[in-house]
Amino acid sequence: MKLLNYIGGVLAEPISGKYLDNYNPAIGEVYSQIPDSDERDVEAAVAAAEAAFAAWSATSPDERSAIILRLAALIERDLESLALAESTDQGKPVSLARTVDIPRAVANFRFYATAAMHLANESHDSVGQAAINYTLRQPVGVVGCISPWNLPLYLFTWKIAPAIAAGCTVVAKPSEVTPMTAFELSKLCIEAGLPAGVLNIVHGTGPQVGSAIVSHRRVKAISFTGGTATDEAIARTAAPMFKKLSLELGGKNPNIIFADCNYEEMLATTIRSSFSNQGEICLCGSRVFIERSIYEKFKRDFSDRLNALQVGDPLKPATNVGAIVSRPHFEKIMSYIDLAQREGGTIVAGGSEVVPEGRCSGGWFIRPTIIEGLPFDCRTNQEEIFGPVVTITPFDTEDEVLGYANSVRYGLSATVWTENLSRAHRMAARLESGIVWINCWLLRDLRTPFGGVKDSGVGREGGFEALRFFTEEKNVCIKY
Ligand code: NAD
Repeated sequence: MKLLNYIGGVLAEPISGKYLDNYNPAIGEVYSQIPDSDERDVEAAVAAAEAAFAAWSATSPDERSAIILRLAALIERDLESLALAESTDQGKPVSLARTVDIPRAVANFRFYATAAMHLANESHDSVGQAAINYTLRQPVGVVGCISPWNLPLYLFTWKIAPAIAAGCTVVAKPSEVTPMTAFELSKLCIEAGLPAGVLNIVHGTGPQVGSAIVSHRRVKAISFTGGTATDEAIARTAAPMFKKLSLELGGKNPNIIFADCNYEEMLATTIRSSFSNQGEICLCGSRVFIERSIYEKFKRDFSDRLNALQVGDPLKPATNVGAIVSRPHFEKIMSYIDLAQREGGTIVAGGSEVVPEGRCSGGWFIRPTIIEGLPFDCRTNQEEIFGPVVTITPFDTEDEVLGYANSVRYGLSATVWTENLSRAHRMAARLESGIVWINCWLLRDLRTPFGGVKDSGVGREGGFEALRFFTEEKNVCIKY
C-alpha cells in the first residue's frame, strides 16, 4: 500500500517519486510505503496553504466550526478502522487506540471547533484621553505543525485543530515512523468538505520535510512536539527568523509516593503511568520515588502487578503492552537497560526482550522493567528512555525527594501520591514541572494549559492558549 501527500485538497504522489518503507512493529515487517517528500512538496503545500488563507481566515467562526465538527464526526464514525490502523502502525494495543488515541482526536476537533467561537477581542476605554483601544486577534497565517510517533493521530490533531479553528492554514508533517492515520485523516478532510489548502499533509523525514517547513520564510509559526535534541535544530533555524514557536519536548517525570497515599489506587495508577503505550508517553512517570517505610511492600506489589501484564500481539484484546515502535527505538531501550546495570542498578522485574509465539514472533517487544539501586544523578535516572522502564528509589523526607525530582534537565509533568492536603500543595508549588497530578495521572481537561518547563518545552498548548498561539494581537487606538 502506498500513502500519498495531501496538498491543495488532493492526494498527491511525492514530486521525487520516491517512497520510504513503513514497518508494522508487531511483526517487524514492511507493510506500506510513505512518500519520501522533499522541499519541493513543502513549497507546493505552502503555496496551497497561502492560496487558501484569505478565504479561510475570513470564513465566519461558526462556518469553520461546522466543517471541523463534520470532520470530528467522520473520525468517530471510523473509530474502529482508525484504531486498527494506529495499532498496526505504532505497535500499541488496539484497545488503547480505541479508547484513548482515536476518541481524543475526535475530542480535539470538537473542543477547538467550539472553543474558537468563544474567542473574543478586548477593548480598553482610555478614560480622560477621549480614546478607545480595541485589540484584534487575527490568525497568524500559514503555520507548520510537526508531531511525533508515540500518540500519532492524538498529537497531530491536537495541533491542527486549534490552528484551523483559529483561521490559520496549515502545512503539517506526521512522524515518518507512524504516518498511517494522518493519511486516513487526509481522506476524511476531503469527505468533510474542508476547503482545499486549509490543511496540507506532507509525509517524509524530519531532515527533509520537517526542516523545509521550519526554514520556509512564509511559514509564520511552528508548533512542534518531539525530542529535545530535535528541537535544538529547529530553534536554531526558526529563532533567527522570528517565528512564533510552541515546543512540547521530552520528559523524565517523577512519580512521588508517600506512605499515607491511597495505596490501591496509587498502585493501579502507577502501573498505567509507568507502562501505558509501552512507556512511550512523554508524561509517563519513569522515576518512581517511594517513602522508605513502604518501599519493600511497594516493590513486591508493583512487581507482582507488572508480572501479570500481558505483553504481545497488540490486536489481542487481553494485551496490555504492545510492540516498541521501531527497531532502532527497541535497541535504544535495551541499551539503557544494559547501562542501568553497568551503573550499579539491579533488575527487580522484566529487563528482557519478549518473543511472542505466532504472527508476532518477528516483532519488537520488551518486558516492562523495574530497576532499583541507582543514584538519582546517574544517566539512567537523568536521560529520557521513553520505553517500559522505570527506576524505583526510596526517600525519607520531602526536601530530599524534591531534590531528586528537580535534578533533571526536564520539567514536563510530576505525580504526587499523598492524602495530606498541605503536603500536596507544598509539593505542587515546589516541583519544577509544567503539570502536577496529585493522586491521579493523565487526567486531562482540554481547557487547561499543557506544556513543560526547563528543557521540556516553551509555551503552552491546550484551551485558549493554543488559539492565542495561532493568532496575533493587533491593537487599534481611536481618538474620538
Ligand atoms: P523526534 O524529535 O525524533 O521527531 C518528532 C518530529 O520531528 C517527527 O515528525 C520528525 O520527523 C520531525 N523532525 C526530525 N528532525 C527534524 C528537523 N531537523 N526539523 C524538523 N522536524 C524534524 O521525536 P520522536 O522520536 O518522534 O518522539 C519522541 C519524543 O517526543 C520524546 O522525546 C517525547 O518525550 C517527545 N514527546 C513530547 C510530548 C510533549 O507533549 N511534551 C508528547 C509526545 C512526545
